[in-house]
Order: sequence, then structure tokens, then C-alpha cells
Amino acid sequence: MSTSPVEPGYHQPGLTPPISEAVSEAAPGEASPLLATAAETAAASRGRATQDTEDDASRHAASASIATKLRPVRELGPTGRPRPKLRDPKPLTEHGPAVVLALCNQKGGVGKTTTTINLGAALTEFGRRVLLVDFDPQGALSVGLGVNPMELERTIYNSLMERSVSADDVLIKTSAGMDLLPSNIDLSAAEVQLVGEVAREQTLQRILAPLINDYDVVLIDCQPSLGLLTINALTAADGVIIPLECEYFSLRGVALLIQTIEKVSERLNPQLQLEGILATMYDGRTLHGREVLARVVQAFGEKVFHTVINRTVRFPETTVAGEPITSYASSSAGAAAYRDLAREVVARCLAE
Ligand code: ADP
Ligand code: MG
Repeated sequence: MSTSPVEPGYHQPGLTPPISEAVSEAAPGEASPLLATAAETAAASRGRATQDTEDDASRHAASASIATKLRPVRELGPTGRPRPKLRDPKPLTEHGPAVVLALCNQKGGVGKTTTTINLGAALTEFGRRVLLVDFDPQGALSVGLGVNPMELERTIYNSLMERSVSADDVLIKTSAGMDLLPSNIDLSAAEVQLVGEVAREQTLQRILAPLINDYDVVLIDCQPSLGLLTINALTAADGVIIPLECEYFSLRGVALLIQTIEKVSERLNPQLQLEGILATMYDGRTLHGREVLARVVQAFGEKVFHTVINRTVRFPETTVAGEPITSYASSSAGAAAYRDLAREVVARCLAE
């Protein structure tokens, strides 16, 4: 049976201090025997990581036919681990209460917003009721769903700051079938204004509470900082997904993020879990990309989603189009990847 040399012994369940230690020790560029083996494994499976080329299909078919003669087939994914075979989630007979997931990384441009939109859209395709929360004053989530945040009279900022405005009052039904709590630049003022409030960290949780029973999942798109807005998102959440760009500096700062999640879990929200690390903007054709991914698997083990999001220009295109990739380019590899992620997320933490 083909198994990855990185898989055993690197499982880091829960929010335990060793994760932060593992990350802070993992200085990019440093040689490590484990990295070498992981990189070799990733190199062996890099054809598959490109997801949809004909080349891959023929290479895979050839290696599969050799493998069937020798042993049962178990496909290695780009993370160097055997991919689980996940079925499409079953339709739900009833909906809610929602699992709240925060998409969080204080580094900008790592795929938080793209993942919020497209994971949400894929979950919607699987019959889940999805609420998206734009919790970044840049309003990119709103823009990505075809909403112009500057034209909005009221946004999530108003429901955070004004007791008379409920989240329902600012909710928008988008053409993508998901509901949205939009934001715009006004939200940046909340960071300062909330400081003087009672239970300032629980403000988002409080305004989301009346909506929780109407949805199966709430995805919060965090801003790129570890300030009070992000602490609010972590306090309101059941789980955190960390999108991590497969780039040289991607692990820098993750230790601080994990420490912040641990602190929120200890002090404000004991049920908070690190649900998974999502490798984004992966280019399996480059040694660099494969090395970074191997290092991420080395640091986080089973917390890393088997699904890896490749770097492709289709994602920036979808932002311009103002719709998810699952509808803009429904049969693209990017859409397929986010459907795979949705299957994994359901299997990990949503009602089946
Ligand atoms: P964040 O929310 O973390 O700042 P975004 O999701 O906005 O990151 O992504 C930053 C930029 O990268 C956007 O222009 C987006 O379209 C683009 N992008 C996101 N994911 C990918 C990908 N897998 N491949 C290529 N470009 C991507
Ligand atoms: Mg963003």
C-alpha cells in the first residue's frame, strides 16, 4: 500500500501549543530530512496536483495500472497523503442551527475572500443554507458577489454599533443563492468604537445569534489583521479555517495566529477549533511550491485539508465578474477544487 512518509507522527489535533512551536521552528529555506522526503513525495505526485491536464490523466493511468498489479490503489494527493474518497453530502431534510466558520489569516492576499465565496457557493450547490459575513472594511467579499458596498446605506457596521439595526435589516440575498451581511469602509471605525463597549469581543456573536437557526453554515471573511474585529469573528465562530498561500513567507506569522486562536479559545470561546489549514495558490510545477506545501504538512499534519487550491487566473476573473467560480466557470479545475473542499468541510465539521 502506498503511504506517505510524512503522514504518521505529524498529526497535531486540537489547538495544542506544539502547533505554534512547530510553526515557529519551521524557518523557510532550512534543510530538513523530513522536508526532503516530503518534497520527494510531493514531487512524485505533482502531476496530479495540476488537477486537470491530459498529461496528468495519462501519467496517472499508467502509474495506476502498474500499481493495481502490485497492490490496492490509493491515490496520493498533492499534500503527499492518500486522498480520502468523499461522497457528495446528502441533502438535508431540515436546516440549522449553523456551524460558524471564520476564514482567518492576518496576512492579506492569501485567499480568504476567494475561499469564503467559493466554499460558500459549493456548499450551496450541496443544498446547504449559507450566510456569508463580510468582516473586512475593504468589502471585497461584497464586491465578489456583485454588490457595490459604497452604494449601501446600511452595512454590518450599523448592526454592530446601533442597537436598533438587526443583522436581518442589513442582510442581502445574492444572485449566487447565498445571503450576505455586507461591509464597507465604515467597518474600519468599529475597530476603534468597539473598544469602549461592554462585552466588545462578543458583539458579532450577539448580532449573529438570531440568524443561526436559519442557516447550516455561516462563513466569516476576516480582515487581514488580528485586531478586535478578528477577535470578534473568532469569538463568534465554532471553527477556524486558515487559508495559507504556498509562498516562501506564508508560515511567518502563523504561529502568532495560532496563539491568538488559542487565547480566544481559553478566554472567550472554549468551543473554538482549528478546523483546517487550506493551501492556496499552489503551483505544483515549481519545486518552491512543492517545498512550501511539504513544510505546511510537516507543521500541521492532518489539519491540512487534502484539497489544495491551485494558482489560476480564473479566480481574479471571477472577482471582476462578481460571481463564484462554481457558476462563472462551473466545470473548471478551480470549481472542482472548491467542491472537493466543501465535501471535506462537511465531513469534518458540518451536519451530514
Ligand atoms: P485575501 O482575502 O486573503 O486578502 P483574496 O481571496 O482576496 O485574498 O485573494 C487575493 C487575490 O488573489 C485576489 O485578486 C484573488 O482573485 C486572487 N486569488 C485568490 N485565490 C487565487 C488562486 N488560487 N489563484 C490565483 N489567484 C487567486
Ligand atoms: Mg479578503
